[in-house]
Amino acid sequence: MEAVADREALAALPRIDDLVDRADALVREFGRRDTTETLRRVTDAARRTLLAGHTASADPDGLIAAATTELRARRPGPPRRVLNATGVVIHTNLGRAPLAPEAVEAIRSAAAYCDLEFDLATGGRGSRNARVAPLVADACRAPAGFAVNNAAGALVLCLAALAGDREVLVSRGELVEIGGSFRLPEIMHASGAQLVEVGTTNRTRAEDFAAAGTDVALILAVHPSNYRITGFSQAPSIAELAVVARERGVPLVHDVGSGLLVDEEAPWAAGEPSIAGSLQAGADLALASGDKLLGGPQAGLLAGRADLVERCQRHPLARALRLDKLRIAALVTTLEAHLREDRGSLPTWARLDADEAELRTRAQGLASALDGEVVPGASLIGGGSAPGHELPSPVVRLRGGAPDAVAERLRLGDPAVVCRVEDGALWLDPRTIDPADDDVLVERVRAERAET
Ligand SMILES: *Cc1c(COP(=O)(O)O)cnc(C)c1O
Repeated sequence: MEAVADREALAALPRIDDLVDRADALVREFGRRDTTETLRRVTDAARRTLLAGHTASADPDGLIAAATTELRARRPGPPRRVLNATGVVIHTNLGRAPLAPEAVEAIRSAAAYCDLEFDLATGGRGSRNARVAPLVADACRAPAGFAVNNAAGALVLCLAALAGDREVLVSRGELVEIGGSFRLPEIMHASGAQLVEVGTTNRTRAEDFAAAGTDVALILAVHPSNYRITGFSQAPSIAELAVVARERGVPLVHDVGSGLLVDEEAPWAAGEPSIAGSLQAGADLALASGDKLLGGPQAGLLAGRADLVERCQRHPLARALRLDKLRIAALVTTLEAHLREDRGSLPTWARLDADEAELRTRAQGLASALDGEVVPGASLIGGGSAPGHELPSPVVRLRGGAPDAVAERLRLGDPAVVCRVEDGALWLDPRTIDPADDDVLVERVRAERAET
């Protein structure tokens, strides 16, 4: 039978003006223009559906509900707080390093007018960089330092400033993709430098760097943060590369990635290079992220030889990649905590260094409150740091019910809770939960399990 348009329903479609009047809550939340446009779109869609002979609701409340869904999807608002029960300490999708309360306070102070580039002593112009550069240098035990938007930006800047359109030697085994969007060959291409691949994917020797290229401007070493070539593999050390770089008269730049400032004894830091360690081994410039193991805001640190740092600072791209006042505020307090050796005040470090007995006590508390069990498990450092390196952690397993449905409800509530679902159970890792949030976590899980 031929589809026939429902004339009655079409005639019942409300006028847009009437809908807007009725949707005053939406107008208050999203503004008149977007609300009106969305209501029009939703109503037009209903009209087309009806004209095509299908069924659609002409009910004003139904249309307003559809518009609400659309507006909410298009305007999710600012990032919402999440309780991270995944056990991944530096979780890129959850915003990487959680900031210390002190950093948050500094952000609050800087958010209004602040003396970002103003000298309160003289009433004259100040420098945004003067607040950060010496701190980066001191924290990295380097002659000079600088900070920009992120590590990828630091790399582009340093290639543009130090290599221009000349050649950069990189080990083929280090032409990697980190975290899905950091593809070294593409970043190098964006900087304008010529990439010269050296060696083979699994084996590269220092001698390979001695012979490669014709117009070489620098040698770049990249820490393969999130993968590890095992078995028949070989890569030159920074010290070996430094010898070649010196012989060729070009700087050696090392992207260490994680933002470890100095070599750490901590078990979780096994094998992670540090900025200071890299410079000491002979790198001329080291680059790192601000929001991984450093435990600060998104930023890219550059530290090393003063002449090289200065060339980076003076390059026009430095202006395009500069930090804003909010992140400068957080970065300064984070670096100060490192310099005071008060790293326990940084949530990332508190999570990594968490005492296993204390974690077990908390896990037992969570398990007994939620009728679960404590199982030996492992947390991940994450964030492309220390590949394959796990931290032993007691975790809480909650069996029974509908774990996927509970996990969804946990994600959608307030505060959102993100956890693992595996083997038909819900898993909560207390390591990545602030102990002060344990009660809220229990409350949320209890309520959502009761609902499903
Ligand atoms: C994480 C990482 C980057 C990217 O850092 P961003 O601060 O996110 O730009 C670059 N290089 C290495 C080795 C990394 O581990």
